[in-house]
Amino acid sequence: MVNIKKKLIRDIAIMSVISGIAAPIVIHRFFLQGHPIDPLEFATSLISNFILGWFIYYVIVRGNLKEYFDNVTDIFRRIRRVLEGSKAHSLEEIKQLKIEAQEDDFIYEVSKEINHFIENLYMSEILDNYQREVGKLFATLATPEVLAESFYNFLLEKFGIVAMAAYMKDSEGVTTRIACFNFKECQITDFIEACFSFKDLKLINVSDVEIELLDKTNVRELLIVPLTSIDVKAILILAKTTKFSGFELKFLRKIRDLMSLGLTNARNYKRLQEESYLDPLTKLYNRRFGMRRFQELISLAERENKPLAVGMMDIDDFKKINDTYGHLAGDYVLRTLSSIVKHHVRDIDLVLRYGGEEILMVLFNTDKYDGEKVFERIRESIEKHRFEFEGKLIKVTVSIGWYPIPPEELTENARNNYKEFIKKADEALYKAKKLGKNRVICYSPKMNENN
Ligand code: GH3
Ligand code: MG
Ligand code: MG
Repeated sequence: MVNIKKKLIRDIAIMSVISGIAAPIVIHRFFLQGHPIDPLEFATSLISNFILGWFIYYVIVRGNLKEYFDNVTDIFRRIRRVLEGSKAHSLEEIKQLKIEAQEDDFIYEVSKEINHFIENLYMSEILDNYQREVGKLFATLATPEVLAESFYNFLLEKFGIVAMAAYMKDSEGVTTRIACFNFKECQITDFIEACFSFKDLKLINVSDVEIELLDKTNVRELLIVPLTSIDVKAILILAKTTKFSGFELKFLRKIRDLMSLGLTNARNYKRLQEESYLDPLTKLYNRRFGMRRFQELISLAERENKPLAVGMMDIDDFKKINDTYGHLAGDYVLRTLSSIVKHHVRDIDLVLRYGGEEILMVLFNTDKYDGEKVFERIRESIEKHRFEFEGKLIKVTVSIGWYPIPPEELTENARNNYKEFIKKADEALYKAKKLGKNRVICYSPKMNENN
């Protein structure tokens, strides 16, 4: 720090001496035409200049400097009071600390720095507020999908993020999509897979990647935010119509850990929820939950006077698959086969794991004609699918027995008769096995007459 007092005293002393010596010389040289200088005059000039210098220092300079520094002190005192005060100080209070100074003002340069400081303080206060808001959001008990939607709304409102997508990798390295808002294309591509290798936030110029939004807004920049915790690996893709600001990047970087943790909790919460209704191996509905859904579908069909088709599937010679290729191969077959079945039905239809390797399918608003087509298509695609486990090709076929429930059987009481419908599908399945497997058989009362 410069010692201003010392410097001023030194400067005034020098000035006094110079002007004290210069004054008599100038007077004698120009006004008294070289008349010899009287030593007394010299001394008087020196002393009077010294006194004048001190007067200027004490009365004018010191007073003005004090006033100037008092001003600066006052500014810092106000800043300190805002900072020391309870956390409840408003953002407006901080903004009001800014100084208005003209360019020719002594305080101008200082005020510029102080205003920068206040601006930073203001931003860090906003950052804290946002962080608290996001903290609350990520602490709520919700699935990753619900969480992603709330977060997107937050980003849209606060930063004008126009699109967001989120993807997560499971422990086996399989990527799934959690959310996709306003992006036209949300398939898992090589680009998305590559994003998982980023360690820090990464900005991507949109001319490098083709991006189309549903609302046709033009994207300027994409930001990839990798989220990694001990057992979660995810990425967020955010889009803006302008460049991302330093503040936005700082904020997102700051809340990364919070997001990763929130996502881990959300994922665990979802798992817990799913465990109550999904079969862990096949990810189909478990039997207990599936039966309830079956009853609901019966009621719906009755209300809307629509037919239902109930099909029971059983893998052919599954024991042999287990014995030949191992139990893990059997599990793989069951898992893959379940997703094939799911792929062939609509969202409203019901697929559940009924028993070990038996899958029950209930197709809504499906009559005898359509049912035959759907079940046959399922059977055929399983037969054609290349089941490959640890380099070995496994031949898999299934038998399906099914019963088309006509609307007239879907009476008020039908909900309680659901077991009857399953029994009929089961009988047809038995027939399919008897006739040589790998086939679809529709129930008919006369079905067993030939035996
Ligand atoms: P079929 O053609 O008559 O149906 O002959 P199958 O060998 O398939 O006979 P069945 O349907 O009675 O066989 C059921 C077998 O499915 C027995 C059991 O070991 C196996 N299984 C049941 N659940 C699982 C499972 O979760 N994983 C594996 N790998 N095997 C299972
Ligand atoms: Mg079987
Ligand atoms: Mg079986």
